[in-house]
Amino acid sequence: MRLSRYFLPILKENPKEAEIVSHRFMLRAGMIRQHSQGIYSWLPLGKRVLDKVNRIIREEQDRSGAVELLMPTMQSADLWMESGRYEAYGKEMLRITDRQERPMLFGPTNEEMITEIFRSYVKSYKHLPLNLYHIQWKFRDEIRPRFGTMRSREFMMKDAYSFDLTREGAEHSYKKMFTAYLRTFDRLGLRAIPMRADTGPIGGNLSHEFIILAETGESEVFCHKDFVNFDIPPEDVDFDSTEVMEGVFNKWTSLYAATDEMHEAEAFDKLPESERLSARGIEVGHIFYFGTKYSEPMNAKVQGPDGKEHPVHMGSYGIGPTRLVPAIIEASHDDNGIIWPRSVAPFEVALINMKVSDDACNAVSERLYEALLNAGIDVLYDDTDERAGGKFATADLIGVPDQVVIGPRGVANGEIELKDRKTGERETMTVEAAIAKLT
Ligand code: ATP
Ligand code: MG
Ligand code: MG
Ligand code: MG
Repeated sequence: MRLSRYFLPILKENPKEAEIVSHRFMLRAGMIRQHSQGIYSWLPLGKRVLDKVNRIIREEQDRSGAVELLMPTMQSADLWMESGRYEAYGKEMLRITDRQERPMLFGPTNEEMITEIFRSYVKSYKHLPLNLYHIQWKFRDEIRPRFGTMRSREFMMKDAYSFDLTREGAEHSYKKMFTAYLRTFDRLGLRAIPMRADTGPIGGNLSHEFIILAETGESEVFCHKDFVNFDIPPEDVDFDSTEVMEGVFNKWTSLYAATDEMHEAEAFDKLPESERLSARGIEVGHIFYFGTKYSEPMNAKVQGPDGKEHPVHMGSYGIGPTRLVPAIIEASHDDNGIIWPRSVAPFEVALINMKVSDDACNAVSERLYEALLNAGIDVLYDDTDERAGGKFATADLIGVPDQVVIGPRGVANGEIELKDRKTGERETMTVEAAIAKLT
């Protein structure tokens, strides 16, 4: 991408409305634009990051055996009357009436809708287990939308729903998602700790929140320090093996970790002081097993091997991609801007042509640009006539991991400079060596 033809509305000043660093940098880097309270557009740079986050989420959902579909944002109130949640959900639900005076709503979550799909098609235990997910906008009329897309009213959610014949089956499905979540957050460059959690309006009895430790987090959390260094399940982990899934789950739940609502001070205080971590955290994912809470009232039953009908055991599993983007920034930045983990960086390489009025600089820049594009690398080529200082500031602010600086003095010697955004280390090398290193 040539910056001269891109849309990157950088803000020079710190926006006054932004209270936390991720919100500040997302606005300054031209990633998002607010329209009304808690409602945002994702501008091109933000959209690139969001897409990469979603790709990783999708890959790990698919790896665990979940199947993607897409449900609408608008739902009919009838379904929610069936489950009994229409009244119970309260003011967070945005209720809308269509021209026929039918009550509709903008979905805050999809348990009812997915149960309706399931019951329409699946009649036998032979089609179980089944896990269906989508990545779709949600709306919750939050009392206090704030911190940009960290707590917005319209936000994206990956929500998966599992269906099993028995409780044991459902627990295995739960542990598969638990494992997939550990892998997902790790690939996003985050250390998320699963903590025992309250089930809230979703209902049920087994639940974990995945929490990123951050001072600006809204939750108060308590856990054992060792979780910070626990191993993540490998790519080839066997999701079908009950023993393997139990192994992962038991290990990751073997030490104390609880959110505020589930905290037992007495148990926590028994840990030696040096092993205790009480901190603030950001909820980036939440998984629930809730048995037959929806399948009973909504009549989602399958025939079992015994020939009888059984309500299915269900779980639901959420991740917030539009919250993850600021959460990653909270975890990885410095005074100059964002430091993206490579896996989600909007561009992998920034080419900084320091002097576009110089033919030799242009020739080298174009050659590099071509070579990187041909190698399939996401490269942002700063071919604008801004002064060099401004270009460096932009590259740092938007957090591109590798920066290549092409200046007249170096080019005269056949050399360019490579800068690592994270460490700040600089290296001078030939154009050929740079191409070899970056591709
Ligand atoms: P919170 O406690 O932050 O209000 P929640 O417990 O209400 O979140 P869940 O119903 O568990 O949220 O939804 C699953 C995931 O969706 C959350 O873990 C979070 O990542 C994301 N999410 C929920 N509400 C929002 C929001 N208002 N803005 C952005 N992401 C959200
Ligand atoms: Mg909430
Ligand atoms: Mg919560
Ligand atoms: Mg939650």
